Amino acid sequence: MAPTQGPRAPLEFGGPLGAAALLLLLPATMFHLLLAARSGPARLLGPPASLPGLEALWSPRALLLWLAWLGLQAALYLLPARKVAEGQELKDKSRLRYPINGNPIYDFFLGRELNPRICFFDFKYFCELRPGLIGWVLINLALLMKEAELQGSPSLAMWLVNGFQLLYVGDALWHEEAILTTMDITHDGFGFMLAFGDIAWVPFTYSLQAQFLLHHPQPLGLPMASVICLINAIGYYIFRGANSQKNTFRKNPSDPRVAGLETISTATGRKLLVSGWWGMVRHPNYLGDLIMALAWSLPCGVSHLLPYFYLLYFTALLVHREARDERQCLQKYGLAWQEYCRRVPYRIMPYIY
Ligand code: NDP
Repeated sequence: MAPTQGPRAPLEFGGPLGAAALLLLLPATMFHLLLAARSGPARLLGPPASLPGLEALWSPRALLLWLAWLGLQAALYLLPARKVAEGQELKDKSRLRYPINGNPIYDFFLGRELNPRICFFDFKYFCELRPGLIGWVLINLALLMKEAELQGSPSLAMWLVNGFQLLYVGDALWHEEAILTTMDITHDGFGFMLAFGDIAWVPFTYSLQAQFLLHHPQPLGLPMASVICLINAIGYYIFRGANSQKNTFRKNPSDPRVAGLETISTATGRKLLVSGWWGMVRHPNYLGDLIMALAWSLPCGVSHLLPYFYLLYFTALLVHREARDERQCLQKYGLAWQEYCRRVPYRIMPYIY
């Protein structure tokens, strides 16, 4: 096993109480969304029309399929023909630290182990990209095929949702190495939050739009579809441009693609970009991601709030994530971070937030 994380302060996610609430709330919300999406009224707020009996929640076949899916992904992950990338340096290299005053609920939710591994099988890294993210695309595809079976051919709205989300997942897999510098890998332990998030929440709630469309077909004309495609393209352009610019800069600041950008020096020796995408707002990648989230909901029309759940939840997640990241950056870079905030005053949305 790799070294464990040291004591963390301050507590995040509302501490043990917040963690306990989220432990119950996240699975309950996921079930609610899945049931609501197939009910007639498809209400985001209020109880779903009918609760299934206990026997409907258990299927040995589904369990077997799920285990086979995880097994297949694990086998692919272990294939010898793969590139090995180096992760971020761990902070506690020099001496062991002993966590005290741990809270079992809080630790279970956030996870104490930063990089749980057996030999080179890294559980967190494996779960981040493979079973859930690819599973999300497969669930979308299954819903598209079911729609084709029921209606003769998939609807334009279903094609758009499938296409946009396939692009997003394909992009994440194509830029697999970039995940090594994300907060999930460098900061968060592998607890309930990431395990449940990666394996259950992502495939089942991120496919909500396709589930909604299967049960509530929506008319969509070509002009509106073109506008939605344009919105998705703008979101993707910002998201990819910002993430690639930072990754290129972190890998090699003298790369010609980023060498001309203005920077601020920090006491750690690392620099911060203050022009290009990162001079527009402090999290341009989140802005692009949110614009794409809007484009994924629009094909579902405006008659229901349910397909906009992802946009609402994701806005809350990114606002919270941005605040966590700011706190960590202030700790890391001190005055240089304050100077960056002065030069780039908006966090995610220019002139608004
Ligand atoms: P980010 O990629 O936003 O990275 C934040 C880090 O970037 C900071 O901690 C800092 O780290 C560095 N940084 C910040 N400002 C600057 C700057 N001006 N110049 C250079 N470096 C800077 O982290 P996330 O992990 O939050 O997001 C990664 C991507 O994943 C995003 O596109 C996000 O939208 C997406 N995402 C998607 C989710 C989903 O469910 N669909 C969930 C969460 C994220 P350092 O200085 O140490 O390099």
